[in-house]
Amino acid sequence: MGVSNSSFAHLTTLRVGGTPKALVECASPEAVAETVAKLDRDGEQLLVVGGGSNLLVAEGELDLTAVLVRNEGIELIDDTLLRIQAGTVWDDVVAYAVERGLGGIEALSGIPGSAGATPVQNVGAYGAEIADVLTRVRLWNRETGVDEWVPASSLELAYRYSNLKFTSRAVVLEIELALERTDESIPLRHLGGRRVPLVEARESVLGTRRAKGMVLDADDHDTWSAGSFFTNPVVPTPLADEIEAKVGEEKMPRFFAGDGNEKLSAAWLIERAGFPRGYPGDGPATLSTKHTLALTNRGQAVADDIVALARTIQEGVRAEFGVDLHPEPVWVGL
Ligand SMILES: Cc1cc2nc3c(=O)[nH]c(=O)nc-3n(C[C@H](O)[C@H](O)[C@H](O)COP(=O)(O)OP(=O)(O)OC[C@H]3O[C@@H](n4cnc5c(N)ncnc54)[C@H](O)[C@@H]3O)c2cc1C
Repeated sequence: MGVSNSSFAHLTTLRVGGTPKALVECASPEAVAETVAKLDRDGEQLLVVGGGSNLLVAEGELDLTAVLVRNEGIELIDDTLLRIQAGTVWDDVVAYAVERGLGGIEALSGIPGSAGATPVQNVGAYGAEIADVLTRVRLWNRETGVDEWVPASSLELAYRYSNLKFTSRAVVLEIELALERTDESIPLRHLGGRRVPLVEARESVLGTRRAKGMVLDADDHDTWSAGSFFTNPVVPTPLADEIEAKVGEEKMPRFFAGDGNEKLSAAWLIERAGFPRGYPGDGPATLSTKHTLALTNRGQAVADDIVALARTIQEGVRAEFGVDLHPEPVWVGL
């Protein structure tokens, strides 16, 4: 277990945010659990941090300890079952699986961050989500003080949601994934539902993501982001009809979401509300020049610049279409 000082501008992919009171690096599940347990006993605020790719943290001196989850390792515990330490880089897990002919997560190639964070918001992309393969997770339950394996079903995984997100009720120490021995990928959304060999699927997803600035690259400010900044909103069907008529384009992206509701594309709404890629053109924070849904730091941004841009987009979309956009990243101290 190591203790050091660093700022959230160094710990997060948005590269904004102030300094925690302390930063504790934990290299084993037990170290994570013990650190969190001690801080909880002492009544100290804490923030569990993996890759910092879904965090927007306030500036200044923050009254919290950052607990860095750094326990790493991937174990094939039978022919198709992977057990993964929470601090393992997620994309290394995908590469490991694809190299061994294990399918199920190839569409999740290139998602930044740690394996332990994947259940937190049920990460997903290109027609797959972690819920499809997650069997169970080892949690440090902060409410009961118990280190326990729980089934994935207990996490209420849904679109960009689990009951771990925004609650901090537990820390993920390890995860288990049931994959499939196969030569072919799952049907890939960006290839019109086609299945292709696993290696090709991974390359195709990485290529498509790179073109959208969705693979981290220190030299590309379009990737100084938290990925998609807003979730796709779910609205009543009459409102979806109204928006479609108002915009007057032949085809608006809209998907059945149960109970008279439809899911719309946040990126489509943002563009139609008058915010093109790269908006507002200059300044410390802009929309990505490759993808309307990513808010990016052009190099000098602070947390308030990102927040101000987020508010402008939210207000613009609300004024134009009557739709509330909800941020996907976790906001801390803001
Ligand atoms: C360029 C880019 C592209 C992205 N593309 C996608 C995408 O396609 N699909 C998608 O779903 N997401 C995407 N994201 C968002 C992000 O990568 C995921 O949410 C990722 O799972 C976050 O992992 P992390 O380790 O960086 O979490 P962090 O940012 O460190 O933490 C995020 C939240 O999870 C909590 N947390 C982290 N680790 C643990 C743990 N072990 N136990 C309990 N809580 C924990 C934190 O406290 C915080 O609340 C993208 C982000 C970027 C920057």
